[in-house]
Amino acid sequence: MPQVRAVVIPAPKAAVEVREFPEPEVPVGGVLMKTLYSEVCGTDVHLFHGRLSGVPYPLIPGHVAVGVAEKVRGPVTDLHGRPITEGQVITYLDVHKTCGRCWYCLVAKASTRCPERKVYGITYGASDGLLGGWSEKMLLLPGLHILPLPEGVKPETFIGAGCGLQTAVHAVERAEIKLGDSVAILGSGPVGLSCAALAALSGAGFVLVSGAPDDRLAKAKEFGADEVLDIRQTHEPDRVATVRRLTEGRGADVVIEACGEPRAVREALQMVRDQGRVVVVGQYTDRGEVALNPHGDINRKHVEIRGVWGSDYSHVYRGLRLLARFQQRVPWRDLGQNVYSLDSAGEALRAVEEQRCLKAVVKPGKRT
Ligand SMILES: [Zn+2]
Ligand SMILES: [Zn+2]
Repeated sequence: MPQVRAVVIPAPKAAVEVREFPEPEVPVGGVLMKTLYSEVCGTDVHLFHGRLSGVPYPLIPGHVAVGVAEKVRGPVTDLHGRPITEGQVITYLDVHKTCGRCWYCLVAKASTRCPERKVYGITYGASDGLLGGWSEKMLLLPGLHILPLPEGVKPETFIGAGCGLQTAVHAVERAEIKLGDSVAILGSGPVGLSCAALAALSGAGFVLVSGAPDDRLAKAKEFGADEVLDIRQTHEPDRVATVRRLTEGRGADVVIEACGEPRAVREALQMVRDQGRVVVVGQYTDRGEVALNPHGDINRKHVEIRGVWGSDYSHVYRGLRLLARFQQRVPWRDLGQNVYSLDSAGEALRAVEEQRCLKAVVKPGKRT
């Protein structure tokens, strides 16, 4: 039986290793995908440290990936009913088994809170099969939503945008940016950068990004930020004052927290104008608490605070449309240039953790 090489995180904080798995039988309605690229995002660093709950180790990480449909045991179709064919370059919504029958799915229409949902590379473990992207091949199970890459969008561009774009689509949707709005984004990682790009594309009158280090801030400008603030050179009150100075003293119409530090939520509340909106997308793991003044920061400001959890099909779909339309304007492809083999996946994790690169990409076909 042919073997498939895949990277496994054996347990929280345990060094990653390459293991071999038998190539799976493809069930009816499933696709065996030869992985071209997967990514190493902040989630994978959290998984490595055991900071997410409900994760069945050992785990094959890599929740987002792109590849070539190698074996299709049809019928398998996309959203439009078009067949997925062997040789086609495809990706998928990493969320599987959203039930469509529970209270959250049916009444709240909040499918990302469906308790039945399983996520490739996060809540499916290695014992469930080749369901993570740091693997030569992946099994796309029946019912998984598969999307062909739009014509003209290269796999390298798709993976450069990666989950950061999908998350940013969701965050900016929640932000409801109006034409001409001033938007401040806290965080200059892949999510923050894509938020900057989408804020600009949404017609924001002004986009500010705070973050570090220098290469990320330079990238933020390429992604559409008019102004950047280096968090290593400034303190919270200075940054708040800068945003106020740039907005006639009022504060930003919309502030998106995309950095993960709890204190950034307080900063966002101070940066936002009265009756503005704060979107919290960076607090993906529990990093602790922060003191707020409910009267001054929330009630009297008449402010709206919105959380963002996960992505659904629409965010992947819209992300692909945005890549097809704006890939020349927004340099998503540049984010996918730190490429690692399966054997150097541990190094890729360290590089992301230590912020030595904006993003790392795993290319299972890479040999060295
Ligand atoms: Zn449900
Ligand atoms: Zn991710």
